[in-house]
Amino acid sequence: MKRLFAIAVIGMCAVANGAFAQLRVVTTSTDLASIAKEVGGNRVAVESLTTGNTDLHYAQARPDYIVKLNKADLFVSIGLELEAGWVPLLLNQSRNPKIHRGAPGYCVAYAGIDLAEKPTGEITRQMGDIHPYGNPHYWPDPINGIVIARNIKESMIKIDPAGKDEYEKNFHSFKDAAVKKTKELMALMSPHKGKEVVVYHTEFVYVLRRFGLSQGMMIEELPGVAPSPAHAKKVIEYIRARKVPLVLVSPWSNVSYAGKIAKEGGAKLLVLPIQTGSVPEAKTYLDMIDTSVRMLHKGLTQ
Ligand SMILES: [Zn+2]
Repeated sequence: MKRLFAIAVIGMCAVANGAFAQLRVVTTSTDLASIAKEVGGNRVAVESLTTGNTDLHYAQARPDYIVKLNKADLFVSIGLELEAGWVPLLLNQSRNPKIHRGAPGYCVAYAGIDLAEKPTGEITRQMGDIHPYGNPHYWPDPINGIVIARNIKESMIKIDPAGKDEYEKNFHSFKDAAVKKTKELMALMSPHKGKEVVVYHTEFVYVLRRFGLSQGMMIEELPGVAPSPAHAKKVIEYIRARKVPLVLVSPWSNVSYAGKIAKEGGAKLLVLPIQTGSVPEAKTYLDMIDTSVRMLHKGLTQ
């Protein structure tokens, strides 16, 4: 009883001080959470469902995620079927129509992104089973980070119009920081312009494109499809013939297999932490960009 009273008093004080309930934001990934924190500032409480080393294609739909989504005011996901294996199920079970697709609390983070590897014409299995609408790994490009931030800001304003000025201000600070970081890293990467790398899964294409590199062959046969021995042989020959300097793989992908291919082809293996929190240095979204691009630079420097 005493405790209940104390809670009530705290609640009243908060109202008297002009405080407000924070917007509860739930994101599928740590990158979206970091950006949402930047944009929302003190007006929001943000939580990512996954950690920085989760393969977002294959995360599990856990019961505690449903509880979190049930209480959320805003839900932000990468979309484009990246989380198709777990998010639709969670949203269905959340009993929270505020965050269902089409509702103001459902943020489409990719709106306005220039998608890579977009299928032309009819959607076929050509892109494998997991990238049916184009490449969904768009966040490692910091300019796309600005687009994500803008989409999150618009959603926050829709559901919390009183916070508009603050969201706008925070968005502009984030945008300025992202532009500054991009310019700095573009200058760093300029000596490597045009260099080609081989990748395990096609999840680096946006960061490569931003910093003037190109993606050569994939070790996977198709996105999400493990390589056959014949395909692996072709990749090794490709690396040797074109003197590809680097093979890229993410920490949550098949690092040992990528390492074997790199070794046989005579390339270096680089495990690139393209998610916030994947390594301790990648504490925020822009730290993650900085860490990953500096690793690329180092890996490409002979
Ligand atoms: Zn993928």
